[in-house]
Amino acid sequence: MGEKIDYGQFDEGRYINYWDVDRTIQRELRRVYSDEEFEWAERRLADFGQVVGERIADNADYVDKHGPELHTYTKRGEIQNFVRYPRELHENEELAYGNGVVADSFEAPPGRDEPMPLSHYFGMGYLLAYAETTGMVCPVAMTAGAALVLERFGDETVEPYYEALVSREYEDVIEGAMFLTEKQGGSDVGANETIAEYDEEGGYWRLTGEKWFCSNIDGEGTLALARTEDAPEGTAGLSMFLVPHGNPDEGVMTKGDRQAFDGAPPPEAINDQYYRRLKDKLGTTNVPTGEVELDGTKAYLVGELEEGFKQMAEMLNLERLSNAAGACGIMGRALLESKIHAADREAFGNPIDEYPLMREDLVDMTVDHEAATAFTFEAARIFSEREREKRASKPDGETYRLMRLLTPVAKMRTARDAIDIASYAMEIRGGDGYVDDFVTNRLLRDAQVLPIWEGTENILALDVLRALERESAHEPFMTVMQERLAAIDHPALQEEQAIVESEYHELTTAMASLASEDGEYAQLSAKRLGHYIYDVFTAALLLEEAQADLEGNGPSPEADGRTALVAKRFVNNHLREQDARGITSGDRFPIERFEEVVHYKPVDPATLAEAVEAN
Ligand SMILES: Cc1cc2nc3c(=O)[nH]c(=O)nc-3n(C[C@H](O)[C@H](O)[C@H](O)COP(=O)(O)OP(=O)(O)OC[C@H]3O[C@@H](n4cnc5c(N)ncnc54)[C@H](O)[C@@H]3O)c2cc1C
Repeated sequence: MGEKIDYGQFDEGRYINYWDVDRTIQRELRRVYSDEEFEWAERRLADFGQVVGERIADNADYVDKHGPELHTYTKRGEIQNFVRYPRELHENEELAYGNGVVADSFEAPPGRDEPMPLSHYFGMGYLLAYAETTGMVCPVAMTAGAALVLERFGDETVEPYYEALVSREYEDVIEGAMFLTEKQGGSDVGANETIAEYDEEGGYWRLTGEKWFCSNIDGEGTLALARTEDAPEGTAGLSMFLVPHGNPDEGVMTKGDRQAFDGAPPPEAINDQYYRRLKDKLGTTNVPTGEVELDGTKAYLVGELEEGFKQMAEMLNLERLSNAAGACGIMGRALLESKIHAADREAFGNPIDEYPLMREDLVDMTVDHEAATAFTFEAARIFSEREREKRASKPDGETYRLMRLLTPVAKMRTARDAIDIASYAMEIRGGDGYVDDFVTNRLLRDAQVLPIWEGTENILALDVLRALERESAHEPFMTVMQERLAAIDHPALQEEQAIVESEYHELTTAMASLASEDGEYAQLSAKRLGHYIYDVFTAALLLEEAQADLEGNGPSPEADGRTALVAKRFVNNHLREQDARGITSGDRFPIERFEEVVHYKPVDPATLAEAVEAN
């Protein structure tokens, strides 16, 4: 596990290699990659962690205050839809795409014969979120999502757009976007009213309607949903279209093409649409989110007519998991800032991280971040496995069904945890934390969008129900859980294993009883169910990781008991029944185990076994 980390050596969470300092993501990626993949990726992740901690973090702070501006008209009153970006934002894009954040998981990168699994993309997104939070993670995610959809459903007409989405040469790159939400329906996508009509003469489709929330508004690889004439109502009547920012008659307008214009492209170089305004948002100021009037806008059909919603669901799953990976990255940064400040700041004569309450805060934030990252990257591993099956033209099976369950659960829980941790990190910084000069301010503002876009918490909870009803996702879930629980037999973990096993049985009873309840009651319970699934699945996963570490079969060759402490605390906080809210238990875990959990001090497994025996 390496040496204990001395957070007091840093002044703030800047000019630090985020990969080197984050043992959690190191651990998870080592677990989910094959040895050969990890060997290829490790140096690149470390290089990227360095770039994010320096250049990208500096630029992100600047862009937060000097975000993109929209200039809808030329001085002669013609529509130009020109979004002006600060140079720093372009530089961050170049650093992200140039480091293969999207490309590596779609096309074989240098030094490999095949693409990396998508978990590599999620891992890079996690690191990027340390500095770029949700703002740039959003366009990057939509770029990966659009690439996934075009790769799977696109024909040769949209092939050049796919090539540009997965390019690692900045000159040739385009970004994705996703126009779903209309005034009358964000969650209720089936209420979309935008119309698509075929233009015989032009040989493409033309869209007419209004989109109400369009992030990365001028993305060249935007995917939109619209309804053709006589299409059925609701989601069944929606088709998917590629809507370029540039005039498609002129070909794909790449980042390089745009920069060559040295200002706004001339009006004839852009597509027939109207960017009404950019939203004045609480956070995510580095991504332009606006309102778009589609006015006979040229578009290409992607996939089959009226299959748009199903195809978009594939993109949405990727977006939701990207949201979760980004949420974990934000938690990682918030935690880093908190650990450093708590080690450096003195109050009442001592560093504040020596006080019992602060120790408990930092221990529990660390545990929740590690739990969220473990769950998210297990979901990412399954997502990647399913994608590999798809690329090999295998039919959907257990992997898909499990992915359908874990993805909404990951998004709903990590979004909430990220807000809690970012909010608490602000408080740990004290009054300064609330001030714009410190990154905690931006972390909280940006985290607040995580539960809203890509499906609110309620909508995700309903999606969990759908995965259970339509995909019988409880079946692969139960198989995985039973195998995992049966394999946890280390004496130091026995007590927690028994708690998780008992809760697992209660959870399966709850799932079965909801299946026989009326729809209203099932909906009423859906959010509690989603969080319950998260707690039980995560606890078993952490115990499995703990056992591997205790036996010296984890990422590090030396046996270590630290992960066991994390797993125990997670079970204690989220699954153990406690009298008097734990106050009478006499448990001093956060005080006694602070160094191990928060500063990664290695734990001799023998001491854990002794503690269990003594109990
Ligand atoms: C910064 C930002 C950027 C965005 N970018 C994009 C983008 O690029 N593309 C895009 O398409 N959209 C985008 N959105 C829109 C976003 O996806 C929607 O706002 C979101 O899905 C919610 O939809 P809505 O605003 O219509 O709210 P509504 O759907 O009206 O929801 C309002 C509330 O009702 C709840 N609710 C709705 N239905 C139910 C139900 N059946 N049961 C219980 N509760 C329910 C919701 O959970 C929510 O709390 C963005 C939003 C933001 C804030």
